[in-house]
Amino acid sequence: MTVANGRKLLAIPGPTNLPDEVLQAMHHHSVDIYSGDMLAVTETCLADLKRVFAAPNAHTYIYAANGHGGWEAALTNVLSKGDHVLVLESGRFAVGWGEMGRMLGVEVEVLKGSWQRAVDPAAVEARLVADKGHKIKAILVVQIDTASGVVNDIPAIRRAIDAAGHPALFMVDTVASLGCMPFEMEAWRVDVAMAGSQKGLMTPPGLAFVAANAKARDAHKSAGLRTLYWDWTFREGEIHYQKYCGTPPEQLLFALRKALDMLLEEGLPGAFRRHALLAEATRRAVAVWAEKGALGFSILEPAARSNSITCVLLNGLELEPLYAYCRDKCGLTLGVGLGDYHNRAFRIAHMGHVNAPMLLGALGCIEIALHALHIPHGHGGVQAAVNYLGEQVKA
Ligand SMILES: *Cc1c(COP(=O)(O)O)cnc(C)c1O
Repeated sequence: MTVANGRKLLAIPGPTNLPDEVLQAMHHHSVDIYSGDMLAVTETCLADLKRVFAAPNAHTYIYAANGHGGWEAALTNVLSKGDHVLVLESGRFAVGWGEMGRMLGVEVEVLKGSWQRAVDPAAVEARLVADKGHKIKAILVVQIDTASGVVNDIPAIRRAIDAAGHPALFMVDTVASLGCMPFEMEAWRVDVAMAGSQKGLMTPPGLAFVAANAKARDAHKSAGLRTLYWDWTFREGEIHYQKYCGTPPEQLLFALRKALDMLLEEGLPGAFRRHALLAEATRRAVAVWAEKGALGFSILEPAARSNSITCVLLNGLELEPLYAYCRDKCGLTLGVGLGDYHNRAFRIAHMGHVNAPMLLGALGCIEIALHALHIPHGHGGVQAAVNYLGEQVKA
């Protein structure tokens, strides 16, 4: 017996749910790659990405690649073999970016962090002050770590770099945060920012975005790791075909065009507010469930819990029964715990194309599962989420 038939809901932190309009935009015959619509779609998407990154003076690039491709694009365009980079750990993803750098021949140092806290700007400052010879060429950090659920304070890390008087390039992964919370590339003097299509940006997986400021483009001139496929200079060539170093991923670009239209129509502040409200509603529910000690937040400090994904730890419980119940009995697919949290946590994505019925549906299914599986939990989590939204979302 199940209540799973009906539209299934995906609550994994990427790929995220797609708007029907975005799917329909992809249902488009192929077009010429040298003239007409495709050129305008490229130009307007590159321009709108500058708005989304809040970087009017940066250059933007679109790659036929996933987020990992975006990482490689960012690294190879500004670094050389043997360069030293500092990775700021706060979960899985910055470390993964660093591992990619290591294989490219970059010397990677990880500033040890934790899966329960945001990056500590004071520790960043101390490490940079100790680097008297300015050996560190770049600093890699994520804004939101999708595995731990943390949000890092990017402007505070920028201030730490400035306080140390350090010239390293500041490189930020915004795959799980762009379109979900403020990101101010220019105001925060981020030199290279990267993102992917399939999380906050409501587009199928397969596109990666990189934005580079003047300082990054200067470093690019002498970077030794450049390859033709990722190369910024080549992609800035006159011929449209060069923008993608080959055939444009046309249908994905039509999808992106529609998704950016929808995001800009809602307005970035509106999208950020929606994410903040749904995230806080989620946290209200989790806080109630956590009262009996079997569940808890992965991130200790409330202010460091992200607005795009909430990671919930299971204390002494296996994930599998809860995960399987939600999927098979209710039609809800949760995110599983990654890395350190393998089989010890689940993740609720509230990122991208998500609204109150979707989120409350997901929270409701989790509460059904807690009940059916006799997992000790405080009662009324969904009610707490409802109450919060009822107070915040005014008539
Ligand atoms: C998903 C994700 C990535 C990797 O993106 P892929 O498209 O899976 O390669 C990188 N960084 C963060 C923060 C992510 O959430």
